[in-house]
Amino acid sequence: MENAASAVPAPRALATDAVHAGREDLAELGLHAPPLDFSTTYPSYDAAGEAARIDAFAETGARLEGPPVYARLDNPTTARFETALATLEGTEAAVAFASGMAALTAVLLARASSTGLRHVVAVRPLYGCSDHLLNAGLLGTEVTWTDPAGIADALRPDTGLVMVETPANPTLAEVDLRAVRHACGSVPLLVDNTFATPVLQRPVEHGARLVLHSATKYLGGHGDVMGGVVACDEEFARTLRQVRFATGGVLHPLAGYLLLRGLSTLPVRVRAASTTAADLARRLAADPRIARVHYPSVGGAMVAFETYGDPRAVIAGVRLITPAVSLGSVDTLIQHPASISHRIVAEGDRRSAGVSDRLLRMSVGLEDVEDLWRDLTQALGGGPLRAVDAEVPAVLAP
Ligand SMILES: *Cc1c(COP(=O)(O)O)cnc(C)c1O
Repeated sequence: MENAASAVPAPRALATDAVHAGREDLAELGLHAPPLDFSTTYPSYDAAGEAARIDAFAETGARLEGPPVYARLDNPTTARFETALATLEGTEAAVAFASGMAALTAVLLARASSTGLRHVVAVRPLYGCSDHLLNAGLLGTEVTWTDPAGIADALRPDTGLVMVETPANPTLAEVDLRAVRHACGSVPLLVDNTFATPVLQRPVEHGARLVLHSATKYLGGHGDVMGGVVACDEEFARTLRQVRFATGGVLHPLAGYLLLRGLSTLPVRVRAASTTAADLARRLAADPRIARVHYPSVGGAMVAFETYGDPRAVIAGVRLITPAVSLGSVDTLIQHPASISHRIVAEGDRRSAGVSDRLLRMSVGLEDVEDLWRDLTQALGGGPLRAVDAEVPAVLAP
């Protein structure tokens, strides 16, 4: 897997693939927009043929040739989104689910059920519900939390997965994927790439075996579709398809349609919002009401910052920016992780993962930077200031 990128060459630029991948057959079909197939079932007069196809799927998990039999096995509209996302991430395959959490659930079940390896090594912080799912052991997994340097020592004979998020939700902390990959040995590395998107980072190029997205965020991009997806090699994808069929966390075809459409503008949206986010991060770092700004070296449209005053006053004060959880939409959202996105993580675990009670997480959208800054600065109001001669907080990374 070390050279996965060279094994899967990307002959076209990402911006080109974003608008063309998953649509290769449309001209031949005489269509411009992708067809949307809502069928829950597919007629066949050949019972023996259907039996053979079902047996083959149960045995291999390979995608069926021809109609999907039943919508829990596959859907042609969703398959277009899967093809496109796999192309953007540089993987052989992708398997879509009803949400990011359904996607993570399928990965954990795939490891526990097909290999019996129930132990997971994970690095905090993770998205709050991912943390909870691992920590509560709901799926029969057991987790060891560590920092990136401790991964090698945390591995056990029954370790089936190493999981990291970079940049992480909500602190935007980054991990060195190459170093982490090295520490994993033969254990598959899952990288949650929701924040960076394949526009800024393709984890398989650094040796990750599994790339997870909450497609609800940047891939959809308009705050109106929920989905999840795992990009990976075909071997792992086969197990994931079997788990999806058995457990039912399928993506609705309309969601698959919207996600494919979302991918076509992903590079443009991510780059434009990242430029604005970097600008806002610089302005916040120079503002005496701000104690600390977090902005990832990889870039992106997420900014996190800590205030001297009560961060909940900023949530109450925004007017243009929407105070809401989630991220990755065309409009700017802000939320207080200790109150909402990471509320489900125990206070001590939150703090030790660097999620301060003063931290605000902002998802920067496509509005004009001056309008956003005006709203932010009025929401910050006349809050406490740092001492005038105190050091100006640097943006943590360029
Ligand atoms: C939102 C999110 C998830 C969960 O995805 P859903 O689509 O809400 O189930 C997982 N990881 C990260 C980084 C997220 O931001």
